Amino acid sequence: MNVTVSHRETCRLCNSANVERVVALKPIPLSEGYTDDPDSARAAPRYPVDVYMCADCGHVQHLDVIDAKNLWNSYTYYSGEAKGMPEHFRQMADKILAAVSPPDGALVIDIGSNDGSLLLPFKERGFRVLGVDPATEVARRANERGVETFCDLMSYGLAEKIREEYGPAHAICAFNVFAHADDLGEMVDCVRTMLAPDGLFFFEAQYLLDIIDGVLIASIFHEHMSHHSVKPLIQFLDRHGLELIAVERAPIQHGSLIGTVQLKGGARPVEQSVHDLVALEDRRELDKLSTLRAFDAKVAQLRDGASRLVERWRADGKTVAAYGAARSGPTLLAQLGLRDAIEFIVDDHPQKVGKYSSGDGIPILPTAELLERMPEYTVILAWVHSAKIIESNQEYLERGGHFVVLCPETRVVGKDGDVRI
Ligand SMILES: [Zn+2]
Repeated sequence: MNVTVSHRETCRLCNSANVERVVALKPIPLSEGYTDDPDSARAAPRYPVDVYMCADCGHVQHLDVIDAKNLWNSYTYYSGEAKGMPEHFRQMADKILAAVSPPDGALVIDIGSNDGSLLLPFKERGFRVLGVDPATEVARRANERGVETFCDLMSYGLAEKIREEYGPAHAICAFNVFAHADDLGEMVDCVRTMLAPDGLFFFEAQYLLDIIDGVLIASIFHEHMSHHSVKPLIQFLDRHGLELIAVERAPIQHGSLIGTVQLKGGARPVEQSVHDLVALEDRRELDKLSTLRAFDAKVAQLRDGASRLVERWRADGKTVAAYGAARSGPTLLAQLGLRDAIEFIVDDHPQKVGKYSSGDGIPILPTAELLERMPEYTVILAWVHSAKIIESNQEYLERGGHFVVLCPETRVVGKDGDVRI
């Protein structure tokens, strides 16, 4: 695979060249790569994931950009398969319809539509739906399910074509992709082009404040090019002829923002929720370089804690495994210096079992191997599911195993709860 990586010199939201590196991290491999043999897995190249802040608008972002085709063409996560997600999408569709009140047969567009799971509930209610997603396999599955999907990246040309052929959209969604676009200006220009005068645009993205409070370094990988907060977004949307009118904090991915946007000068008032979050961000000084530097110091503390554990495990000859070949896994292993300590990773994903983790060459085994091999410590890489993993592996704990949770602080959990470290 020919990966193109480029370094931006300017802020993704306001084009200022006044950007500073605030969190220095170790380069990591592209996180979706699982390979058949350990040598080529270990040879996987690593790319920078340092975090920068714009000193002018306060936007926190990555400036090392992997070409989107490399990130998304072979993407194989099906959002409709994740537990609880179909129900989440149905509720989301209800909320969107309540906010928009679209006419019968109105058009709903989803950017980064994956397997069409968010659009299905709209289709079932008689609306016209259209998905856009560059990942070949997931777009094919969406079309098979009857959700018409362009297998492409959102671009201005495509937006104009959609507007011409399908008419304006009353609802446009960009859940989970809003943080992924390098050219976010083009994405919102596409939205403005496709949106009906009384339509609404909805986006979801991880919230910077939650990343900072939870020390969620596992969320920092190449796909997440922006770590959004409300204040920089308001100015950015305004420059692109759009207006943020409501914002909600949701527990998705340990803390996300769901924003509602109308065309600038639209009929709806800006809700109190926007003013409240701006006030909170001011109080927390979220747009200050010093806040991000304090986050960097917390990351360093986690790294120190993890390296002390690794030293002790080595000295005592303990066996250590990891749980969950999640996309955040390579980040945690690399940033916390854990990869040499881990003998194997357990995960039941059929496309990962029997393969080797990218960059580290660690074998991926089915979760049943945890009880077979009984490693003394198992580091949870699928950090989103830590509580669930601990709860559903009580037998492993009963038999003397320990789970290690890495964020927001290092915890070792045994059969009687937390163990002092
Ligand atoms: Zn900026």
